[in-house]
Amino acid sequence: MSAYKHIDNRGKEIPLPLGKVVCVGRNYLKHIEELNNEVPSEPLLFMKPATALCSLKQPVIIPKDKGACHNELEVAVLIKSPLSNGSSEEAKNAIWGIGLGLDLTLRDVQSKLKAKGQPWERAKAFDYSCPVSQFIEKKHIQDYANLEFSLKVAGKLRQQGNTKQMIYSITDLIVEISKHFKLMPGDIVMTGTPEGVGPLCAEEQLEVTLENHFSVGTFVI
Ligand code: ZN
Repeated sequence: MSAYKHIDNRGKEIPLPLGKVVCVGRNYLKHIEELNNEVPSEPLLFMKPATALCSLKQPVIIPKDKGACHNELEVAVLIKSPLSNGSSEEAKNAIWGIGLGLDLTLRDVQSKLKAKGQPWERAKAFDYSCPVSQFIEKKHIQDYANLEFSLKVAGKLRQQGNTKQMIYSITDLIVEISKHFKLMPGDIVMTGTPEGVGPLCAEEQLEVTLENHFSVGTFVI
């Protein structure tokens, strides 16, 4: 596993450091329904450390002895400038670009933690729990409030989402996050998963697609 770096759509390294990953839970209604969760009155936030990051172009490593590991394909936003208590305009200006990421989740572990009212890090923040794609620079994205993305597992469509189905938009999420945690250059915001989460198995082929921008193929080990 080579060290993770942010990469653009031409395969070039983006000159931003590695930072934290701020994740959003329960941002799509149909996903909330499939897990019988409540609709949140404000965005549900949690974090993954930089050690969770790896490239989607490398094999996706799932833990073998901790129960089901679920796919959650999400739009990932790469941050380019510091942001604290930002306005909508400042939030938009803080975005470098958009990619896709998997918020890998140990669902059995998470269910036990949820039942005990404990934090989710054991289920969400383990090493390589956040494989991410290349990032498309903001100027090449027409409208990030209307972006189609999908995940195929073993050749079958498992997740298909559009950012217009989000409860909280990308801009709203960045504004809200910046009220609680200062966002820094190189941080990534994972914006929540649409429905279709499910267990991944070793040797399954994965294909993630962001509209006509890119498709990345990989497999699970
Ligand atoms: Zn997620």
